[in-house]
Amino acid sequence: MQIDEVKNGAKEQRVATHSHIRSLGLRPDGTAEPVSNGFVGQEPAREAMGLVVDLIKSKRFAGKAVLLAGAPGTGKTALAYAASQELGPRVPFCPMVGSEVYSSEIKKTEVLMENFRRAIGLRVKETKEVYEGEVTEITPEETENPLGGYGKSISRVVVGLKTTKGTSQFSMDPSIYESLLKEKVSVGDVIYIESNTGTVKRVGRSDAYATEYDLETEEYVPIPKGDIMKRREVIQDVTLHDLDVANAQPQGGQDIISMMGQLMKPKKTEITDKLRKEINKVVNKYIEQGTAELVPGVLFIDEVHMLDIECFTYLNRALESTISPIVIFASNRGLCSIRGTEDNETKSPHGVPSDLLDRLLIIRTGPYTQKEIEIILDVRAKVEGIKVHPDALVYISERGVKTSLRYAIQLLTPARVLAQLQNRDEILKEDVEATGDLFLDATASVATIKAAGLTGGF
Ligand code: ATP
Repeated sequence: MQIDEVKNGAKEQRVATHSHIRSLGLRPDGTAEPVSNGFVGQEPAREAMGLVVDLIKSKRFAGKAVLLAGAPGTGKTALAYAASQELGPRVPFCPMVGSEVYSSEIKKTEVLMENFRRAIGLRVKETKEVYEGEVTEITPEETENPLGGYGKSISRVVVGLKTTKGTSQFSMDPSIYESLLKEKVSVGDVIYIESNTGTVKRVGRSDAYATEYDLETEEYVPIPKGDIMKRREVIQDVTLHDLDVANAQPQGGQDIISMMGQLMKPKKTEITDKLRKEINKVVNKYIEQGTAELVPGVLFIDEVHMLDIECFTYLNRALESTISPIVIFASNRGLCSIRGTEDNETKSPHGVPSDLLDRLLIIRTGPYTQKEIEIILDVRAKVEGIKVHPDALVYISERGVKTSLRYAIQLLTPARVLAQLQNRDEILKEDVEATGDLFLDATASVATIKAAGLTGGF
């Protein structure tokens, strides 16, 4: 269980570094703005990806996949992420690295299957009874800790909700208080609270529009302030993998997701093929009933040359499936051996067998200019709340041109630590210079070792 949590966290982190990217940043005619929606440079690659997105949207991409070819740190992951953003709101994006399939515990195809299911979303529509209105008060009621320990604990929370019909007060469970804090709800927000699960959702602010997601137009539209108690269509986005996990550890609850989690009574802790099949059956039923809709997302497989022939066979089959997500491979290799062939002797472009190569649209990514690196650094620094002096920005980006964008971005954190040690909140050029004295880039590292006469292993 713990291992699983760590793994999930790693995936979220990988996605979080691209949070500034909101789309491919294309004009209506499909050409790329040099800097737009968080994306910088790589115009030809973005335009090509835009075309792929069009093909996907017009359902002419079945059985095909994309391969992004380019050096590390040339924005391949960023491009794949942007493609998922272009496909619509809350479309799953699942990044993985080819070498992830080599685990001593799990079969290679099993790892691939799990990632495929992480990249397939399910949008479930449910009608729920909710309390809805504008928040007029949130008053936690504290009691002394019953066991005589330190501090107080919250026993109830009074929530005031105002609608067109007046204001009502609700005395609610402490867990609601936590949800209100988590959702950063404050007085004046329009929210709803599901009466059976206690889920709190912020719909908008009273001084702005209250909005809700319209299924028809797939847009957020203004809604009139609701009745205190009403039935509301609630949309939940889950992935097939979420359902697998929920069913492996059934917990209880009244909503569709937890009911689906209770379909198979025995307390399973493992996701098996049988369990997945059962889930597919239930999902298909919901789709037929119109309660749920499949949302194919993007599965991004970096370092595709690390996969072997067994994985490629699986992928060929999986791509043919009607519920396949969009698969985007990435590679920084040219001609190399296909793993798993006899003595790993057979060579092929990017280490990919020809039957899979034939399915691929290949898009190249190229190196960044100093100016482009400077802009990307600036954007990332802002997202991470790091202040960087313009001279330092230029200096880091110049080093980025000589090394890589990724190296340049990674200098920001140690440079910030050095700045903080000097009681500054802004990174100056001298901080970056100091990090250069402390840490080597790859080329400098190899040169140092060569100079010491240690060309082989240590
Ligand atoms: P690759 O997958 O080719 O190795 P990447 O997309 O993972 O590249 P990183 O080197 O990890 O890129 O990039 C570091 C940071 O720079 C990430 O936050 C990424 O989103 C951002 N980035 C990369 N390319 C661009 C770009 N063209 N425009 C804006 N941000 C970018």
